[in-house]
Amino acid sequence: MAESALFDTFARAPLRFERGEGVWLVTESGERYLDFGAGVAVTSCGHANPHLVEALKSQAEKVWHLSNLYEIPEQERLARRLVDATFADKAFFTNSGAEALECAIKTARRYHYSKGHPEKFHIITFEGAFHGRTIATIAAGGQEKYMEGFGPKAEGFDQVPFGDLDALNAAINENTGALLIEPIQGEGGVRPVPKEFMRELRRICDEKGLLLILDEVQTGVGRTGKLFAHEWAGITPDIMAIAKGIGGGFPFGACLATAEAASGMKPGIHGTTYGGNPLAMACGNAVLDIVLADGFLENVRDVALVFRQGLAALKDRFPTVIEDIRGEGLLLGIKAKVPAGDLISGMRDQHMLAVMAGDNVVRILPPLVVTAEEAREGLRRIERAAEVLSAEQLKKSA
Ligand SMILES: *Cc1c(COP(=O)(O)O)cnc(C)c1O
Repeated sequence: MAESALFDTFARAPLRFERGEGVWLVTESGERYLDFGAGVAVTSCGHANPHLVEALKSQAEKVWHLSNLYEIPEQERLARRLVDATFADKAFFTNSGAEALECAIKTARRYHYSKGHPEKFHIITFEGAFHGRTIATIAAGGQEKYMEGFGPKAEGFDQVPFGDLDALNAAINENTGALLIEPIQGEGGVRPVPKEFMRELRRICDEKGLLLILDEVQTGVGRTGKLFAHEWAGITPDIMAIAKGIGGGFPFGACLATAEAASGMKPGIHGTTYGGNPLAMACGNAVLDIVLADGFLENVRDVALVFRQGLAALKDRFPTVIEDIRGEGLLLGIKAKVPAGDLISGMRDQHMLAVMAGDNVVRILPPLVVTAEEAREGLRRIERAAEVLSAEQLKKSA
């Protein structure tokens, strides 16, 4: 094959999908794959969901793009629905998760600036974090592998070890303005932040006048069985970045904030050409129609339980392949004993898709519309992959 005309930034699997239906993807040659990666937690309502298709089509026939020079009723409606369903009073729409984080960072900095504290631009983040690929968000994530070769690290991000309260308290100083954390580290290996720790973060922020920023780009919009993962801890943030699941496959994100936290964001100081575009908003509203419907999140929790119990049983049966099961709702991680890449390709041999994460973890993120029967189908495929891997181990040790 001729060399690709694309940047060499992705090591792609040699799979070409032509279409999708619900939790299934179908290749050009008609092979069906169970898609429990969901485009990395994006296709929350499944592929080709009729309600989303209809929403996108009917908007496409009316108007695609306007810019934020004019009022966009669907944007106003989506903001209102997000605000009504959360802690937030205000929303700003973006095109991606990283941009939602950029907005969150700018909002926090402007807040302190407008209160006469421009020096409070430092944000504390946690080791293993992932917040995106822009110059600011790689600095926030703090992972050397993403920063190397991209010039000086953007200023104002101080990182402490995951879960280390003493280190956190020691890192807070007169320049600190906010804490930024994912309720469950996704890319970092499906590592949940203990609820008690989340509550402690809220308490510290209240006590010291800091803003709590949550990155719910991966954990949000029903993924963990609550609309947002922080609800499990019974706390609310001041600012929150979302994306991925909210678009159901249409790329967009949002920064949500309380009126107080957003009070520094005045006309003209932040903007976007595409953010809040009518096509994106039509999709976002259609996703919310589904996710906010009665019983939907309850069903996510029920199916997640089936999945999790099945995975726990597999862990007991294949202790040399599976070390641990972690996560919440339908953001599940299999910490592998074998290289996680081997388990992923073993699952792919069984026509099932999942996603790599840090810490040698296989991420399982099915569409939220997955049924218990489809979850059991996924478990059977993971079981067969584990059987093959453990048989190979026996052969090697014989
Ligand atoms: C995916 C992700 C991002 C970045 O989102 P993009 O849309 O790729 O820019 C940021 N934070 C978390 C937690 C994510 O999972």
